[in-house]
Amino acid sequence: MTPETSPERHIVLAGAGIGGLTAALALSGAGFRVTLIERNAALSELGAGIQLSPNAHRILDSLGVIERLGRDCVQPLEIRLNSVRAGGLVGRVPLGDTAVKRYGAPYCVVHRGDLHRALLAAVTARGDIDIHLGAAVADAESDDDGVTVEVQGEDGASTLRGDALIGADGVWSAVRRRMLRLPSAQFSGRIAYRALIPATHVRAEDRVSSSVWMGPRAHLVHYPIRGGEALNLVAVVEDDWHEEEWSAPGDPEQLLPRFADWPEAPRSLLQRPDTWLKWALCDVGPGTIWTEGRISLLGDAAHAMLPFMAQGGAMAIEDAAVLARSLTENADTPAALLAYERDRKDRVERVMRTARDNARTYHQDGVGAMIRDMGIRFLSGEKLLHRYDWLYGWRM
Ligand SMILES: Cc1cc2nc3c(=O)[nH]c(=O)nc-3n(C[C@H](O)[C@H](O)[C@H](O)COP(=O)(O)OP(=O)(O)OC[C@H]3O[C@@H](n4cnc5c(N)ncnc54)[C@H](O)[C@@H]3O)c2cc1C
Repeated sequence: MTPETSPERHIVLAGAGIGGLTAALALSGAGFRVTLIERNAALSELGAGIQLSPNAHRILDSLGVIERLGRDCVQPLEIRLNSVRAGGLVGRVPLGDTAVKRYGAPYCVVHRGDLHRALLAAVTARGDIDIHLGAAVADAESDDDGVTVEVQGEDGASTLRGDALIGADGVWSAVRRRMLRLPSAQFSGRIAYRALIPATHVRAEDRVSSSVWMGPRAHLVHYPIRGGEALNLVAVVEDDWHEEEWSAPGDPEQLLPRFADWPEAPRSLLQRPDTWLKWALCDVGPGTIWTEGRISLLGDAAHAMLPFMAQGGAMAIEDAAVLARSLTENADTPAALLAYERDRKDRVERVMRTARDNARTYHQDGVGAMIRDMGIRFLSGEKLLHRYDWLYGWRM
């Protein structure tokens, strides 16, 4: 199809998280005028890690973000699958050079703050993206000619006019709930505790590899970040606490008893952090639409998912690239937004289903855990990786 971008088309983005910043880069690179509105007065990210699989890495590389991360990006050699029932290792999924050879891009792990800084530096370097901090998108109305966006800033309310509004405003999206009247993401009955520890005194293999420990009604993921200087810990437990917060303090006294009868290796890691942050895990059900007229959604606002495939951020990054392509290929903005949603839906729903399946698999007990461990042992590491070719090998 012939590109029909008209340079004056103006896209308003709500939210400068991973999805909003990547979309700003992709859209402005494709010739659109971009306004990015972020509720927080200062841009920052949680002190935690994030995994960047090859499908996301490829897009960030094409947008000039990866070169800004430098040695902050760590390529784990493998994912070590451990079972509490078996007392240790049951499988190893090769990453490192194997992932590069198979998918043409590495599987990396990085500190969220470093990723956010690299994205922001790339956005700032473009010089043509209009960023408004400390301003929240409060309402929007779509008509035949454009969209009117109401913005609530520290100095009061103002309006701006654009060709489309994209809600990249996260799991508790106001654009999703207020402007598109879609149901909120639902609490999954699981919470994630996150912490960083220095990588001193951790086992040599833990400084170069990612690990998952699967146990009854809980699991632990850890991987090295910041060039291997720190270890990122994510402990997931079944619980009924849920609040709309990114960074509620987590009490080690509530967390540690859940792991009291686990093997020494994961317990000794869990005992090290003085402070934890906790996060209620939510997802949206399959089948919901996320576009109406000139308003659409991206990232967690569109399809919040459980983090058990480590793909929420990656899907937001893919959304951004597909959105820019769709708007470039179609001068009719509402039609382009519908085409973008159609293009993304099957893939993100498959990832969401796989993440829900992993939630069940990781937390098995008794016979279920025994069958899971036998299944992992039966498959070679390469075969375990190849099951995800559809995900990591994705190209636009
Ligand atoms: C424990 C855990 C581990 C995870 N691990 C991984 C992983 O390894 N790999 C991976 O790919 N993903 C992972 N994820 C998922 C990933 O963190 C999210 O999918 C990703 O951050 C979503 O990005 P986003 O830009 O859509 O939303 P967000 O990052 O939430 O950004 C939304 C932005 O919108 C702003 N905002 C909110 N309301 C408004 C408004 N009204 N107006 C303007 N701005 C507004 C917010 O301040 C925020 O800056 C994990 C998630 C969890 C919980």
